[in-house]
Amino acid sequence: MAEAPSYRSVQLLIDGVWADATEGRTLPVVNPATGQPIGTVAHAAIADLDRALTAAEKGLAEWRRVPPLGRARVLNGAARLLRERAEDIATQMVLEQGKMIGEARGEVERAAEACDWMAGETQRIYGRTIAGRAPNITNLVLREPVGVVAAFTPWNFPVNQIVRKVAGALAAGCALVVKGPEEAPGSCAELVRAFVDAGAPAGSVNLVYGTPSEISEYLVPHPIVRKISFTGSTIVGKHLASLAGKNMKLTTMELGGHAPVLVFDDTDPVAAARALAGNKFRNAGQSCINPTRFLIEGDSFEPFAEAFVEAASALRPGAGLDPATTTGPLANIRRVEAMERFTADALAKGATLRTGGRRIGNQGFFFEPTVFTDVPLDAQLMNEEPFGPIAMINRFDSREAAYREANRLPYGLSAYAFTTSSQTAREVMEKVESAMISFNHFGLGHPETPFGGMKDSGYGFEGGSEAIEPYLQTRFMTMADLI
Ligand code: NAD
Repeated sequence: MAEAPSYRSVQLLIDGVWADATEGRTLPVVNPATGQPIGTVAHAAIADLDRALTAAEKGLAEWRRVPPLGRARVLNGAARLLRERAEDIATQMVLEQGKMIGEARGEVERAAEACDWMAGETQRIYGRTIAGRAPNITNLVLREPVGVVAAFTPWNFPVNQIVRKVAGALAAGCALVVKGPEEAPGSCAELVRAFVDAGAPAGSVNLVYGTPSEISEYLVPHPIVRKISFTGSTIVGKHLASLAGKNMKLTTMELGGHAPVLVFDDTDPVAAARALAGNKFRNAGQSCINPTRFLIEGDSFEPFAEAFVEAASALRPGAGLDPATTTGPLANIRRVEAMERFTADALAKGATLRTGGRRIGNQGFFFEPTVFTDVPLDAQLMNEEPFGPIAMINRFDSREAAYREANRLPYGLSAYAFTTSSQTAREVMEKVESAMISFNHFGLGHPETPFGGMKDSGYGFEGGSEAIEPYLQTRFMTMADLI
């Protein structure tokens, strides 16, 4: 019989060396499919953060001098190693985070694509000249790496959330101290290992784990750090942005969302429902661009709801490595408790439960794919990001009411619309306040396209040609030739 895959405990990476934390502290890593501990992750002490910062300062001095083609070689090398190691990295990810193995493999491939994309971007960092006010004057606009970056990445996409920051910063010539996700540290460490093995110099990328608030309170104000990049909840993002503001640090904030989905009555409601249900339960709904508030026009409502409920009920929750599984567990017990709280509240407020609504068993963190219809706007689910396998479907009869509902919350990350009319699509673009809108498919999050939010969903973009910008400092030089 084939041996069950095993999980490898995770160390810190400081100055090119993988090692335990100075004081030897660790945190447990738990398999969400069983609820059982499977390994540990090193918990950094302040002394480790100091060493990481000193290493990053030294790494920056070396890395910023590597020409663009040299940086591209390291990024392309990391992409090649990620592809070679994809099966192992994906398996570690499933064991620590719970998602299905197919989703994990896809995530590693997308990370490799992001490295290749950013390798190309190293050669597209342009300055410019500005005509001087006299013939002997030269004006130059220069783009330089901003310096040492402190990056904070979450557990829902343990590889994809970090690759955008590491590949972007390294492409620009910056060095980083990354705080990875303590709950899913192994696959994230393997991503960093790919950069190191591909030739990123010691100190150019450092990886720590520990108590998130302790690490951010120390790194954000630290004078060695010039730039903060955070992906996570809006509440933590606002806290870190204010801390960064007090210390005049540059920031990129990729925060939460509560995506509206507008299904117009000119489109096939059953086909839209099947497509949307397929996307909704990906990663057990734990994604900041997850479709959450489904708004269905007029008579399309019931056929849409029926088809969506049918697709949700047909899912087979299970361990991510089991080929029979079609949706995995939630990543941690907090998410299960949140789903129970949301469900009880929605029922108390009068929403109709069409399927699901309960925790599955008491081993691991499984929750039934759940669908509510006719959900009152004061239900917690309609206001807080669900971040789990619950869909809320409501009907709209006037477009203005649908746009009002889409814009009611302070979020502005992603929105979706299904329509066959280009005129309607243009109207949605104009009326819906969301930084990213995908029509009739799910086209968000590719390395070559910008990814980011507006309003309470944050600011700054991580994909596309925008991705390198946050890591570049503009400088201006003017010179008069003495004649
Ligand atoms: P949380 O708010 O405690 O943590 C979210 C992330 O922020 C984690 O990675 C955590 O390590 C980090 N974090 C928390 N406090 C921090 C601090 N003071 N300094 C630096 N980092 C800090 O919530 P959680 O229970 O882990 O996740 C639940 C909520 O977080 C979800 O409902 C969702 O809104 C949000 N979330 C969003 C994303 C995203 O992709 N935008 C990813 C994961 C979680």
